[in-house]
Amino acid sequence: AKAEGKHNFQFYKEEMNTKAQERLLLENKLRHAVESGHFVLHYQPQVDLRTGELIGLEALIRWIDPIQGMISPLTFIPLAEETGMIGTIGDWVIRKACEENKRLQLQGFPEVKVAVNVSAYQFRHGDHLCDVIKSSLASTGLQAKHLSVELTESILIEDVEDTIAQLHSLKGLGITLAVDDFGTGYSSLSYLKRFPIDILKIDQSFIRDILDDVNDEAIVNAIIGMGRSLGLTVLAEGVETIAHRDYLLHQKCNFAQGYLYCKPKPADELLECWEAGSLL
Ligand code: C2E
Ligand code: CA
Ligand code: CA
Ligand code: CA
Repeated sequence: AKAEGKHNFQFYKEEMNTKAQERLLLENKLRHAVESGHFVLHYQPQVDLRTGELIGLEALIRWIDPIQGMISPLTFIPLAEETGMIGTIGDWVIRKACEENKRLQLQGFPEVKVAVNVSAYQFRHGDHLCDVIKSSLASTGLQAKHLSVELTESILIEDVEDTIAQLHSLKGLGITLAVDDFGTGYSSLSYLKRFPIDILKIDQSFIRDILDDVNDEAIVNAIIGMGRSLGLTVLAEGVETIAHRDYLLHQKCNFAQGYLYCKPKPADELLECWEAGSLL
């Protein structure tokens, strides 16, 4: 029994080492990818539920590794946030999204907003975020009304006074502000009123079972009602079926995004689909 215990301990230790080593390996690989620029943006259409018209594109990052191929943001964004690499990556995302949206517009694609995801880390560096957005708009010629920023509810909870000031500076540029994954955090109605935000994005986890789960249904209806009473636009994400769409339409949700309409695609594919009349 003693020998076995010792063996288990060693096994445990080795497993720990493997985990730590894997993380270190991924961290080094990510650092290399940042230096080499191994990222692309895919864009997912956002539509007006009532008219079915395109109203925006959400920029979603992908890491293209020369050997492994495409790596999901779910595997590297958390690490990028922990290590601070999200600072450099986030700046790149903003500039690239502005550049590609402007280029699409010049190529005859509809003039809609491009939405970029912003991490809490990017909010905690004074004027940096605002400066990067300002200079990206200036250098690409994209109009501020064609850019929106998606921030998570957790940003609204930390360091409230500073966040309010930051959001006011961003609004001052003329861009749109959306709260992502809404419903998964702890914002209350009275709380939300303090932030100069425009859009609430209902988290996809509530949409998935909306027709079978009365709790999800209640949450979604409450968010839509809350949004309306605060004069906000409500966007449902993860809309996968016609039944989802019809339900949301009936509840008077404003906008939607999801596989029912379109998967995220590179800018040139979006343009091709648009030209072929097969985008939505
Ligand atoms: P998110 O911002 O909530 O983005 C929505 C995610 O849902 C995307 O996953 C999208 O591809 C996926 N999705 C879209 N429609 C559907 C649907 O109908 N059903 C289902 N099941 N999923 C759908 P993706 O692209 O893997 O991104 C995952 C997360 O990574 C994003 O969640 C966001 O939090 C983060 N992320 C992506 N790009 C960036 C970025 O540039 N910066 C930062 N900070 N985070 C990013
Ligand atoms: Ca998002
Ligand atoms: Ca989301
Ligand atoms: Ca999410």
